Amino acid sequence: MQEQNRTRFDPGAECVTQMHLAREGVLSPEMKRVAERERLDPELVCSEVARGRMIIPANVHHEALDPMAIGLKARVKINSNIGNSPTSSSLEEEVQKLTVSEGWGADTVMDLSTGKRIDETREAIIAAASVPIGTVPIYQALECVKQIEELTPEGLVENIAHQARQGVDYMTIHAGVRLEHLPLCQHRVTGIVSRGGGILARWMVHHMRENPLYERFDEILEICRRHDVSISLGDGLRPGSIADASDAAQFAELQTLGELTERAWARDVQVMIEGPGHIPLDQLEMNVRRQQETCHEAPFYTLGPLVTDIAPGYDHITSAIGAAIVGWHGTSMLCYVTPKEHLGLPNAQDVKEGLIAYRIAAHAADLARGSARAAQWDRELSKARFSFDWRRQFELALDPETARAMHDETLADDYFKSAEFCSMCGPKYCPMHNFKDLDWDALREAVTARKAPGVARSSLARDELAEVAS
Ligand code: SF4
Repeated sequence: MQEQNRTRFDPGAECVTQMHLAREGVLSPEMKRVAERERLDPELVCSEVARGRMIIPANVHHEALDPMAIGLKARVKINSNIGNSPTSSSLEEEVQKLTVSEGWGADTVMDLSTGKRIDETREAIIAAASVPIGTVPIYQALECVKQIEELTPEGLVENIAHQARQGVDYMTIHAGVRLEHLPLCQHRVTGIVSRGGGILARWMVHHMRENPLYERFDEILEICRRHDVSISLGDGLRPGSIADASDAAQFAELQTLGELTERAWARDVQVMIEGPGHIPLDQLEMNVRRQQETCHEAPFYTLGPLVTDIAPGYDHITSAIGAAIVGWHGTSMLCYVTPKEHLGLPNAQDVKEGLIAYRIAAHAADLARGSARAAQWDRELSKARFSFDWRRQFELALDPETARAMHDETLADDYFKSAEFCSMCGPKYCPMHNFKDLDWDALREAVTARKAPGVARSSLARDELAEVAS
């Protein structure tokens, strides 16, 4: 295997993607960094990227990037969405949301700006971001025209090229929404809920034409090849309610996404597949399996999914439940949902709450997938807890500040940082304290000699008791 110190941009090269290098057997600096971060063999990273089961979103123009990977063999990742809207937020606030997102562990950040100063906001975000930045280029294309019907295929492709030059690492391209799929949505409870899907549906029906992103997909691939933009194939027809989950429209689009994946791979372009949305618990595993089969194991990137519709204000929780389960079954990246979902544009506090919920979901999924690294973290925290090492427990907590503040709310004095109880059960009832206080030597002796009445009546054989006692 060759090693290469790839220059970040080669204007003469037709294809500079990580997938292209991996298929040529070249170990790039980005692959080596991913191997180091994931504690994987660099050759395994290279072979996973080559077969499309792992992606490294790394636009050649994104100088501040610390490369990371999304895929089955990697840790489950989380994405945070930021970006202004026509009615709220500023450039400074969006950069602050990026900082909050990185600080709370977002592995990638999507800039979904649809308001003013889109270019300046994106440039400031990319310049400051060490994580990959994703966008949905159709949003900016729409800002260049008065209404959806005025969008042109050329304008859409030019916008993708423009953002590729700016350094966007991955782009949501809703190329899987076909004209023939739209009648399948007509009787849904919540119709089309993806912004990109809704824009395209309106354009297609007005012009009675096929989706321009589908028709121009080869041109889009050429752009992605030259700048190493990973494509996140958008799920424009994802279900927006439990009632619409796993319906014909959703799976018709998924079928097209499988075809597009093969077309992208034929051009060495990295791909991941976006997924639902709103799915009840009993359909989660089936949805992951179906995506993996239909899209040839390209990484799955799901929004939640929310497992019920009834809790506006708490959708970071309804969706983190679904996220943990799909992560366990093979989803590679979880797009976070904040408490403001369905209600308004999240502020920095909402971003934090959404990220914490999703880090819990991703970690729970890593544990269920057998990650020794994840299990070690749990073990260390449990040990600190059992030894009443409160300071260590706070240090190891996902959110140390909140853990410390909650403990100190009732027992703030330093003395209580080694106390063998907290205010939950108190000293007399604390079961961990009572357990530690047991006279183990006396118990072992009683068990072995069958001295205690309870032990004497035990049906366990002497040898078994001795083994238990030791
Ligand atoms: S008092 Fe209860 S909650 Fe607190 S440390 Fe002991 S067992 Fe845990």
